[in-house]
Amino acid sequence: MFKADVLSIGAHAGDAEIASGIALANAVNSGKKVAMCHLTLGEKGNPNMNPQKYAELKHEEAVAAAETLGAQLYILGYLDGELPENDDVKKAIADVIRDCKPEVIITHHAKSIHKDHVACHRNVLDAIFYAALKGFETDREPHFARLLYFAENWEDKEDFVPEVILEVTDADIKLWKQTAQCYSLFRGEVVNFPYIEYYEKLARLRGIENYLPYAVAFEMPPSARKQRLTSLW
Ligand SMILES: [Zn+2]
Repeated sequence: MFKADVLSIGAHAGDAEIASGIALANAVNSGKKVAMCHLTLGEKGNPNMNPQKYAELKHEEAVAAAETLGAQLYILGYLDGELPENDDVKKAIADVIRDCKPEVIITHHAKSIHKDHVACHRNVLDAIFYAALKGFETDREPHFARLLYFAENWEDKEDFVPEVILEVTDADIKLWKQTAQCYSLFRGEVVNFPYIEYYEKLARLRGIENYLPYAVAFEMPPSARKQRLTSLW
């Protein structure tokens, strides 16, 4: 049975790969097992293709990206732009968490210019609770994912605090680029935003700020900031 070390959950196919992909590549290159879960395919994001056709393409691209990265893939199939925040979504995500049993979960930061990203963030918080709750019975065993991180994403910038810094390498960036390039969106064939250039330069910027060649930044949930000490030094 597959057991993940890290599960990245994104609102749209491509979010996990683009915003947390360098960290996922770092995990893969460190011998860890990685899973990704896309809540929607992001099928309404192509001005030159109808959503049905783009959904088929995004599905193929998501499978290719997961294979390139070496990740287990879950696609939940909610509608792009219409991702609800409700118990149906929370329980579906909880099932994914119980299925792959990650130590670490990565998802969107709380604030975003995209409503699906905000809904994803809120759904994931409660899904972690459901997944761990013994009284919530499904055909899978309960699982508590110990660590939660919010990825740095150009759409989720408001109030994002880059407080956890992960050093990454050239090899991580190389594997991430190969993964991201599976999507026509990230190859620049759908919209003008230079995704790969942006995230590569952001990794260099976070590296420079932290005296490292390359790094990626995360924010923690407020509850994770509490520290229990026996001494102040
Ligand atoms: Zn998105």
